[in-house]
Amino acid sequence: MPDSQSATLTCDVLVVGAGPAGIAAALEAHNAGRDVLVIDKATFPRDKCCGDGLTTGALRVLESLGFDPSRVASWTPTTNVWLRSPSGREMSMPLPEGRGTFAAIAPRIEFDDALVRTAIDRGVRIAQGVTFTRIAESNDSGVTVEVDGLGTVHAQYVVAADGMWSPVRKSLGLSTPGYLGEWHAFRQYASNVTGPAKDRLIVWFDEDLLPGYAWSFPLRNGRVNIGFGILRGGRHSVQDMNALWPDILSRPHVRAALGETVTLEGRHTAWPIPARVTSATLTHDRVLFVGDAACATDTLTGEGIGQALASGQLAGRAIAAEFTSASRVARTYRRSMKSTFFADHRMSVVLGAILRSSLGARGALRLANSNDWTRRNFVRWMFEDEPRAAIFTPSRWHRGFLKRPGVELGSASNGTVVS
Ligand SMILES: Cc1cc2nc3c(=O)[nH]c(=O)nc-3n(C[C@H](O)[C@H](O)[C@H](O)COP(=O)(O)OP(=O)(O)OC[C@H]3O[C@@H](n4cnc5c(N)ncnc54)[C@H](O)[C@@H]3O)c2cc1C
Repeated sequence: MPDSQSATLTCDVLVVGAGPAGIAAALEAHNAGRDVLVIDKATFPRDKCCGDGLTTGALRVLESLGFDPSRVASWTPTTNVWLRSPSGREMSMPLPEGRGTFAAIAPRIEFDDALVRTAIDRGVRIAQGVTFTRIAESNDSGVTVEVDGLGTVHAQYVVAADGMWSPVRKSLGLSTPGYLGEWHAFRQYASNVTGPAKDRLIVWFDEDLLPGYAWSFPLRNGRVNIGFGILRGGRHSVQDMNALWPDILSRPHVRAALGETVTLEGRHTAWPIPARVTSATLTHDRVLFVGDAACATDTLTGEGIGQALASGQLAGRAIAAEFTSASRVARTYRRSMKSTFFADHRMSVVLGAILRSSLGARGALRLANSNDWTRRNFVRWMFEDEPRAAIFTPSRWHRGFLKRPGVELGSASNGTVVS
């Protein structure tokens, strides 16, 4: 990689951001024979403030990308899911066992690094520690981009996979003034967990956090990722979050789950979650926005890794399929984003409104906990094994609805399952 600021690089596709969205886009375009350059301001392994939970939806995209989880040292598949209603009732909603993986926890510092290494091994060029600064020019012959630490890059297409604050979006003057995301979430790691949270994936729907929740996601050897997320405009403000954290940790059900010996690790972090894909800018001339840069997280749960992977894949495919026509690339990508995400987003908005009240959340969880069938299928649906709004979108119906086996992701998916 040239190290001079004055060097000019060319490529078919410049991907800004090497998180899940960027790597998925890069792999798709590269697999289709396109010359792809990925840039990231970070040097991997780098951390990302996240709950580290991979839904079935995320795992299915990883499977299609040929991802090998044995690259992630702390990869922790789980079938052991517990929810706690605002009423205090705890319910076990196990995922199917022995039929592949339906959920896994993968610390982002390891997971994103494994994705980057996967792409490098497949031949994708990745420049780390270099920062997108601006789009200098965009016309019929392509996009010219300034990259601090690399120089000028000329690409036919730019995929903006640069996260919530998307410097690419900002450089194009497309940012919404004052936009801070729909959710805000807070995370810390803890070790020496001896209570049930050691091997349970727990979601606590405490009344004051609704429609948000607190979580504890199990990793190996008594380690967990714990945190909580709140919807902006709810009972607690983002400014309250630091003060709220010790309060949440001291709640009896949280203490009982973690055990007396729990030790909080290092610093905690918080970050916004953008969840308004139906109104986000998805394309601008030869630029395609993906993942958090396309505000694609699920507005019901705040999960966004699966959405980042899927939208990245759709962008890579649109570029590969329609390379010679920028207008067709943009149209194809917008259409595929619409059919993949929009109905589910609207469904999540409706369900989120129900979860806002304690009564609504209690009722919804009581319904989910009615019998074995509802427990089994509710959790698979919650983990995005099927689209949120599948029932209202017949075009996505298939014979194996909620009956498909889980995901087989190479050797580690057969490894230690926390159950
Ligand atoms: C506390 C918290 C908990 C969460 N928990 C979960 C969860 O359990 N499961 C789940 O599915 N989702 C979760 N999410 C959401 C999830 O983290 C995001 O949706 C996901 O990371 C989006 O991926 P991405 O690839 O779009 O962006 P990112 O992962 O943010 O990657 C963006 C990349 O762009 C790079 N970049 C930024 N600016 C520049 C620049 N100028 N030049 C070059 N590179 C640049 C960054 O360095 C970064 O590597 C959580 C979010 C938060 C805040």
